[in-house]
Amino acid sequence: MATGGVYRNGSSKAPNLRTSSSFKSKLPASNVRRSIPGGATDSVSGRVRVAVRLRPRNAEEMAADADSADCVELQPELKRLKLRKNNWDSDTYEFDEVLTEYSSQKRVYEVVAKPVVESVLDGYNGTVMAYGQTGTGKTYTLGRLGDEDTSARGIMVRSMEDILSNISSETDSVSVSYLQLYMETILDLLNPAYDNIPIVEDQRNGDVSLPGASVVEIRDQQKFTDLLRLGENHRIAANTKLNTESSRSHAILMVHVKRSVLGREDDFSTENENRSHSVGNFKPPILRKGKLVVVDLAGSERVHKSGSEGHMLEEAKSINLSLSALGKCINALAENSSHVPVRDSKLTRLLKDSFGGTSRTSLVVTVGPSPRHRAETASTILFGQRAMKVENMLKIKEEFDYKSLSKRLEIELDKLIADNERQQKVYENEVERIRLEAQKRITEAERNCAEVLEEEKVKCQMDYMESIKKLEEKWSVNQQKCAANGEVPLDSVNNEVIEMKTLLQNEICLRKAAEEENNKLKLQLLKFLKAELADGNIDAMNLVEILEQESHQKKKLEEDVRALRSQLSQLSTEANQSRRYLERGGNGNTVAVLDCLSPLNHLHSRDSSNGERASIVNLHEQVGLQKILSLLESEDANLRIHAIKVVANLAAEEANQEKIVEAGGLTSLLMLLRSYEDETISRIAAGAIANLAMNEANQELIMAQGGICLLAMTASDAEDPQTLRMVAGALANLCGNDKLQMRLRSEGGIKALLGMVRCRHPDVLSQVARGIANFAKCDSRASSQGSKLGRSLLIEDGALPWIVQNANNEASLIRRHVELAVCHLAQHEVNARDMISGGALWELVRISRDCSREDIKALARRTLTSSSTFVAEMRRLRIEV
Ligand code: ADP
Ligand code: MG
Repeated sequence: MATGGVYRNGSSKAPNLRTSSSFKSKLPASNVRRSIPGGATDSVSGRVRVAVRLRPRNAEEMAADADSADCVELQPELKRLKLRKNNWDSDTYEFDEVLTEYSSQKRVYEVVAKPVVESVLDGYNGTVMAYGQTGTGKTYTLGRLGDEDTSARGIMVRSMEDILSNISSETDSVSVSYLQLYMETILDLLNPAYDNIPIVEDQRNGDVSLPGASVVEIRDQQKFTDLLRLGENHRIAANTKLNTESSRSHAILMVHVKRSVLGREDDFSTENENRSHSVGNFKPPILRKGKLVVVDLAGSERVHKSGSEGHMLEEAKSINLSLSALGKCINALAENSSHVPVRDSKLTRLLKDSFGGTSRTSLVVTVGPSPRHRAETASTILFGQRAMKVENMLKIKEEFDYKSLSKRLEIELDKLIADNERQQKVYENEVERIRLEAQKRITEAERNCAEVLEEEKVKCQMDYMESIKKLEEKWSVNQQKCAANGEVPLDSVNNEVIEMKTLLQNEICLRKAAEEENNKLKLQLLKFLKAELADGNIDAMNLVEILEQESHQKKKLEEDVRALRSQLSQLSTEANQSRRYLERGGNGNTVAVLDCLSPLNHLHSRDSSNGERASIVNLHEQVGLQKILSLLESEDANLRIHAIKVVANLAAEEANQEKIVEAGGLTSLLMLLRSYEDETISRIAAGAIANLAMNEANQELIMAQGGICLLAMTASDAEDPQTLRMVAGALANLCGNDKLQMRLRSEGGIKALLGMVRCRHPDVLSQVARGIANFAKCDSRASSQGSKLGRSLLIEDGALPWIVQNANNEASLIRRHVELAVCHLAQHEVNARDMISGGALWELVRISRDCSREDIKALARRTLTSSSTFVAEMRRLRIEV
């Protein structure tokens, strides 16, 4: 130990003492580097701070040492203490703080403990410890409650006041344990039943804890002072029981401060501002756990005067074991020794973090003035001097508070789920509202469009009908004029009229096509409107455009009608001229033969009895065919119907047929079919046409005058089975003509024939079957002659399913026709595949086995054995013929 120098504490060894910042000051912010929880730990060096406090002379010292001076002399402004060796010599020591006998408790707290308490609030561990001889004021400094005199409150009370006023009762918490260490045994001063509490060390970080000790949460100051009082009472009681004094034991107060820190944006990298905003809410809060340990050590004199107070030496050693171990550790640390005997005592284990650890530590050494205790005082001062050399590495104790983050996120999530559900409902309602609105608008637009189109269509039809009517009237006037003059138009003139009528017929077909186009447009428009409306935007311009197209179409039709009308008037003039020329020639004779060989002959008996027939013959003979034909256009409906009946009856006679045709009867009948006024007229006209169609020459005429088209139209419009039977009969006759095959098909004759099976009347079906058989026969003939290639037109037009279905019809007439059709189709290899896949092979086999007509049966068998495709298929199916 150096003597005589100005400074006794080797300032050379601790040069920082002089330059160090004020003991009072907190660690400068720049100097405190925070460790990131879970990451690398940063720490900052923090030397143990030591203050010396001098107790004033007590009454006894005043009396006993009245003549002698104090052994210590303080120079607080220089932070020095002089320890008098004798009257002329003294040693000088420098401390971090020198507290005179006049220092108030408040000042002592601020100088010694406040910086430590502030560090604890910041998340560091902190230690405040008093060391000194018994009676020098350790308990006075640390443990005074200040019940009577608030200015006397010690460091424990003031620390708690400071802590409580700095934390948030909502997010933070403070709890305390209060213990006594005596003879290496730890006693819980808050619950003396726990009288041997073990120290537990965390294997990972070396932190020590006392899990067996009571931990009491502190919410207010009163509760804390009550606890301190309780602890003091327990301490006195325990010491009485152990027959010792408080001064022989160490009292340890542990204060745990947990603080939640939010909104430390600066601590996290903010590479992306937006991201940091969105994730900011989900950063876990940081939990800081600072621990303040306040230690009121046993009197330091024991180290030197062991056993002097009635204890056995060994026992005394044990009493002082902890304190001497603390001295050894501090020595080792002060000298930077490689070994620090921390594990030698419970006290040093408990204070492991306070000396050489991560805690901010402040030591107050208490000394008395009495020269009688000079040695003890010197020893205390040296302990303080050595402690000043101990360097700690302060480390913040903080961690992410995942528990509270998870709780917060759970609340947030539940809120979002509820929000989402609400929004979903609102969204669904909105979608439904828009849907209904759009539906309403579509319906409205559809209705408007349909109305407009319907009006336009009706108007077109009316105009058209009106024009035709006028044309016909004019024509009829001309005819009547001719009849009045007894003229008979020449064939050539008639032919021209027929040609003109054919033109008219073509117009009708055109009109039909236009109507179809119109309907198609209508559909397209509706589709388009729907799409447009779905987007909430109706394009009215399109509607206007379509209407314009419609009226354009109408105008064109009107022009056509006008042109036809002028042609007609020209033809009429020519006819008149011809008639005048004919006046010189005789009138053709008419023959009425009532025998009828037509397959439709019997039909007419329904419309005319034998009596009627006779009168018809008479009528015919009396008025002449020409007149009767002219009555077909009579204004009087009854007369008109009667005239048609007469013509139909006449047409049933083969002998009349030529004359009727020559006189333009066929054309008139076709006109009647076209005008389709009522179904009776259609029925009778179709019947007459059917009769005329038995003749091959007439068949071609019917075709040339657009008869196929007209018959097809009637077939689709008529409902009465008898009308359909007549139409089917007429078409069936046409089907038997080899020359008409292609036209029949291209003008929809086959389709019309097949369409009529919708009426299940056997008479109609029988005519359809006859037509199909006729057609199949011609088709087969054409294929045999090589004038036609490819599949049968019947198969092309989809007749096969009906044929297969009716090949075994109950009605023998239908069955026979269909069986014949099957045999005809089967004649040609090119049809074989379709017939097999359509099931017609089975029918053919059946016909070859069961047909009641031997000729058909034989034909079927022949056909089956001669077709290689059928033979192969039958072999595959193991069918024997
Ligand atoms: P220790 O705990 O060190 O044994 P105490 O704190 O019990 O010492 O103090 C012994 C006596 O000295 C007590 O009566 C106490 O009131 C008194 N005392 C100690 N320090 C002071 C002081 N700074 N001012 C006034 N009285 C004091
Ligand atoms: Mg004491």
